[in-house]
Amino acid sequence: MKDLFDYCEFGDLKLNSRIVRTGLWESQREKSGNLTPEIYNRYENIAASGAGLIISELYSLYPRDVFSKYSNTTHYSRFVREARDLTDLVHVYDVPIFAQLGFVQFNKRTEQNIKIEDVTVEDIRKIQTDMIIASQKFNYGGFDGIQLGLGNYYFLSRFINPNFNTRDDRYGGNTLNRLRIVLEMIKVIKNTTGLHINCRLNAFDGTTNGMTLDETIEICKLLEKHGVDSLQITRPRSPQFFTLENKETNPLVDAAEKIIGSVDIPVILGGGSNSQSQINRLLNSSSIDFISMQRPFVHDPSFLVDWHMEGNGVSGCRTCNNCY
Ligand code: SF4
Repeated sequence: MKDLFDYCEFGDLKLNSRIVRTGLWESQREKSGNLTPEIYNRYENIAASGAGLIISELYSLYPRDVFSKYSNTTHYSRFVREARDLTDLVHVYDVPIFAQLGFVQFNKRTEQNIKIEDVTVEDIRKIQTDMIIASQKFNYGGFDGIQLGLGNYYFLSRFINPNFNTRDDRYGGNTLNRLRIVLEMIKVIKNTTGLHINCRLNAFDGTTNGMTLDETIEICKLLEKHGVDSLQITRPRSPQFFTLENKETNPLVDAAEKIIGSVDIPVILGGGSNSQSQINRLLNSSSIDFISMQRPFVHDPSFLVDWHMEGNGVSGCRTCNNCY
């Protein structure tokens, strides 16, 4: 019998439960980027509550990206020192913590939201270098891993998607070519840091000529082959009013099981649950071992404490999405 509070292995890491807390974006930081006491308190509460793994709020690669008003960045002078304080706090509870890294638009001076086909090879080298430098900062900051944002409609999810990437050079065309921008930087991050690398990607996108589950599976295999340590499966748009209970009520369940059957690295199923009994039923009726939760932690960072005591908890979050 599996239980969400099982002590379990996640690749090279040990987790205190099967619940992965994935952050949204940070609304409590100072304008300068500095972390406020509320942020340290929240992370400590999440770690103490029984979360198995914490994935941070989004760190936007570029401070002027469209979510910059809400996103953390690594672009301020005290970043490494504050990151070290934050990760030390979480590690007291033997909880690993990953930094979530991504960006939505690629901009150059007056050119905004540059299309994939207009990104030059020099631009690709800049993006890769910026991602590698950010990863090295996370490494110095004491993070155990990074989560690369290849999902939702972030820039890299569009870059690997045939619906958006119509390039005819070695960064476009077949699956391997579209994924090359990611694989090249993963190789350097693996060689220069000790970070666990998790990739968060869409199971499918439902658009004409877009990403199918079969291609996502091919991408997952390539990511594994090139050193990625774990995956998180999500969807392009935020899940709303889905329950996790079975594949009839959440189409991601079936997709996640097919991906789990195709790779030998841990796979996290993303989002959509607010009930302890639902999660335990899903764990015991499928090959899914790890569940990501976001908004229940926004509603109450300590809700897992109550779940642990009650045994049949339900989050007060109603998935209204107002926190977006
Ligand atoms: S109830 Fe709505 S606003 Fe509150 S955490 Fe849940 S989704 Fe966000």
